Amino acid sequence: MAQSERSADIAVVGGGILGLCTACYLAQAGSLKISLLEKDLLAQASTGLSVGGIRQQFSHPSNIRLSQMTLKLFSRFEETFGRPLDFHRVGYLFMAQKEQTWHSFLESVRTQQDLGVPVEILPPSEIRRRWPFLNTDDLQGGTYCAQDGHADPYSVAMAFAESARMLGVSIEENTRVLAVKTGSGRVQGVRTTRGTVAAPIVVNTAGAWAAELAATAGIELPVMPFRRQVYVTRQFDAIPKPLPLIIDQDSLFYFRGEGRGILMGMTDPKEPSSFHTHVDRDFLESLIEAAHRRSPVLAQAEILRGWGGLYAITPDENPIIGSLGELDGFFGAVGFSGHGFQHGPSVGRILSELILTGKTSIDLDPFSYTRFTGQAGPGEERTV
Ligand SMILES: Cc1cc2nc3c(=O)[nH]c(=O)nc-3n(C[C@H](O)[C@H](O)[C@H](O)COP(=O)(O)OP(=O)(O)OC[C@H]3O[C@@H](n4cnc5c(N)ncnc54)[C@H](O)[C@@H]3O)c2cc1C
Repeated sequence: MAQSERSADIAVVGGGILGLCTACYLAQAGSLKISLLEKDLLAQASTGLSVGGIRQQFSHPSNIRLSQMTLKLFSRFEETFGRPLDFHRVGYLFMAQKEQTWHSFLESVRTQQDLGVPVEILPPSEIRRRWPFLNTDDLQGGTYCAQDGHADPYSVAMAFAESARMLGVSIEENTRVLAVKTGSGRVQGVRTTRGTVAAPIVVNTAGAWAAELAATAGIELPVMPFRRQVYVTRQFDAIPKPLPLIIDQDSLFYFRGEGRGILMGMTDPKEPSSFHTHVDRDFLESLIEAAHRRSPVLAQAEILRGWGGLYAITPDENPIIGSLGELDGFFGAVGFSGHGFQHGPSVGRILSELILTGKTSIDLDPFSYTRFTGQAGPGEERTV
């Protein structure tokens, strides 16, 4: 492979939604030379494997604000990128079975409503009336926001990639960053499989591989990879569409419409950290059990295909955004659990503000790297 020495003002590592949005917003500032390096192909890792959910129903106010900012950016998507946004505004329904879960839902609803989210509290009878295919016998209730939904993460990422290229960002695929180069207490650039890129600023948007990358600069990042599996059924008409994205919080099972079929996923909270992405039959059986319990009619659905992808998770399930440790010029946006697609556009914008001006329009304290080196505040409630 040809080796070369090049330079940039900013090197962005990782061509998923976070790297592409950050590079795009940085490039909008004009004169900067920006280099984005991707070890494989753009948006083929977590971004391309994501379920594309966009919701405002978070427990942490900062996460709600990030979703609201993305929704605002999405409302101008076509005008900005000259292509339609395939946004299915079908709503998100969260359901609670345990009393404790229900209490934490009600607490989150207060925060959401304070921030203007039009979320409804639904008793089991109302859930049953609206979605009669759901078993509500064991439920305490649910919360529903009609503004939420899902979009196609790959096409959103590629719209940002195209815009970044048009703004002059150099995007190199099949270029792995082997190490972040450091010296005199700051970053000096990156060493890649295709030579070096000298740069005074390096942005770590390496997703599930973020900790590996940071370690090459001597920085310990508390971000670990975890597999998540998703399955899609053949055409299935027994559940009418449009269908909200439905989350059964106490089993961590969820489903939504996907074309003429149903997409289903579930989190296994006992699964250890790994880079595995294969699908696993035993897990599929427990997912099917959870599906039948919540919606017995799903017993008639036939699985067509499945895939696994990686979540990058921090100890408090909130991302790290901003400076990464003591090293000058080392920034990042990592550890987004199952929220990185929807928060990618807003975070890309905020991180670019921070790098370019040192200030941000949203308080980044809850997402600081230093919360793991000092006193930690409340994180985000675990969902699927
Ligand atoms: C099954 C599944 C369902 C999900 N559902 C949702 C959802 O409904 N809603 C939502 O908002 N989010 C969801 N997510 C989460 C979301 O997909 C991620 O949070 C988001 O895609 C993270 O984006 P990223 O750019 O950080 O990571 P990625 O998309 O993984 O991009 C990181 C990139 O960095 C590259 N890279 C890594 N190391 C190097 C290196 N050393 N050199 C060069 N390149 C490197 C990788 O190849 C990769 O392309 C889901 C994820 C999965 C797996």
